Amino acid sequence: MNEQLAIAGLESKKTSEKVKIAVAHGDGIGPEIMDATLKILEAAGARIDPEPIRLGEQVYLAGNTSGIAPETWKTIQDTKVILKGPITTPQGKGYKSLNVTLRKTLGLFANVRPVRALSPYVHTHFPEMDVVVVRENEEDLYAGIEHQQTQDVVQCLKLITRPGCEKIVRYAFEYARLHGRKKVTCMLKDNIMKLTDGLFHRVFDEIALEYPQIKSETQIIDIGAARLAARPQDYDVIVTSNLYGDIVSDIVAEIAGSVGMAGSANIGSRVAMFEAIHGSAPDIAGQNLANPSGLLNASLMMLRHIGQSNIADTIEHAWLTILEKGYHTTDIYQKGVGSKKITTTEFTERVIAHLGQRPEKLKATKMASGTGAMQIPSYVRKERKKELVGVDVFIDWNGSNPQTIGDELSRIAAFQLQLKMITNRGVKVYPKGSEETYCTDHWRCRFVASNAQIDGTIVYEPVAYENVVALLSKLHNQGFDVIKTENLYEFDGQRGFSMGQGE
Ligand code: NAD
Repeated sequence: MNEQLAIAGLESKKTSEKVKIAVAHGDGIGPEIMDATLKILEAAGARIDPEPIRLGEQVYLAGNTSGIAPETWKTIQDTKVILKGPITTPQGKGYKSLNVTLRKTLGLFANVRPVRALSPYVHTHFPEMDVVVVRENEEDLYAGIEHQQTQDVVQCLKLITRPGCEKIVRYAFEYARLHGRKKVTCMLKDNIMKLTDGLFHRVFDEIALEYPQIKSETQIIDIGAARLAARPQDYDVIVTSNLYGDIVSDIVAEIAGSVGMAGSANIGSRVAMFEAIHGSAPDIAGQNLANPSGLLNASLMMLRHIGQSNIADTIEHAWLTILEKGYHTTDIYQKGVGSKKITTTEFTERVIAHLGQRPEKLKATKMASGTGAMQIPSYVRKERKKELVGVDVFIDWNGSNPQTIGDELSRIAAFQLQLKMITNRGVKVYPKGSEETYCTDHWRCRFVASNAQIDGTIVYEPVAYENVVALLSKLHNQGFDVIKTENLYEFDGQRGFSMGQGE
């Protein structure tokens, strides 16, 4: 199947038609900043029809641990666009993160966070920065698959998929193309995680070739994040996986000095959700002190997504104008920079009063219209030949000498399968380990049919799965505590598993 998927599917709306938007006011300062935002959108002539939905603290406290009322799903599926205020997650066990539920249930695969300096009106050391972080939103360590395997060892599965990588990398390049951005930087740790981050890197290199007009580069996440914190003005669009993106997007917002100012989008193939990056700020809730800029900026991303870019531009110009005039809410107000400390209500009135005016120094964001109609090709799976060549058997064993377990396992052979090596926390400890290596009660024992070396490359023989079952049965009968197995495969003759350190 090779048809194109239209993100959010809004491209068919007539321009004159009002677009239905599901609106969640949120908790804490949420209702205040949402009212401000909706008033500004209305005054600017945004063609939207807001439909309130129930999410958040009240829904949690009414006994729904997901924080979303059942009837809300239907509204979201009808409107396909959500404008969401910040949510308070009640303290205590059993409450699930509403954001994670929404992202995963609605397939919101891309988290997009544009952050730029608003210097000198908002203090930052980096007046030139203007960065967009595109973070993969659905997989990686956030799949949340965790197990305790032995008394001393717990595990979290990092899942990276080819369709997931293709979608997010393509989205980043399409975003760059549509918004006139010049460079996409991919940040990963594939020098260590050669299969998972290696796949992301490969897909990035493949897709980058289709965008010769956009510069592409890859950086190891540790040095990349350090350079980003030191010289953010060198970056344009950053694409990365879920965990790295979570960290990098907060670094970017913090150094811009604009945690209270930035908006973000969560984009899916059918639904898109827009929100401020900050939380519900319970410390200032109900006091008319909150800065609505973060949610207002999110709503501008929403307007551009649904093809109402001209209205977004008008609002952005008015907002930048009041920033330049020094009308600043308490969170950003500094003596000598701001001319008047304003309330949430005054912010709303002043933005509305400045609609139609243009800022003198600050420039509007480089944003395209109709991003909701962006085309992302659907995934085409290429069949590859998959061959079983062995098994990693994980054993819970509370001994300390690898030689003991290694010698015992070496005597157990099930048809072609024989012990090749044992690792502990990924380091080879048998045969010929190092005395210094600390060993836990979690032993990864690799059984393969053959490990003949040809020209320095290990050649594996195909194995029948029955042999794996027979091996497990033998291990169990001889008293070994097998906690899990991982089959070892080759795909089109290429090794689909990592080597042990020192193997
Ligand atoms: P927070 O972002 O709510 O507040 C951090 C600090 O920034 C506070 O001092 C607050 O007063 C200030 N602040 C934040 N937004 C502001 C604004 N618009 N105007 C003026 N000042 C602002 O972070 P927190 O205190 O760690 O979290 C509070 C609650 O928000 C928690 O329940 C948390 O789970 C939730 N939260 C929700 C989201 C979301 O819904 N997307 C995101 C982050 C945190």
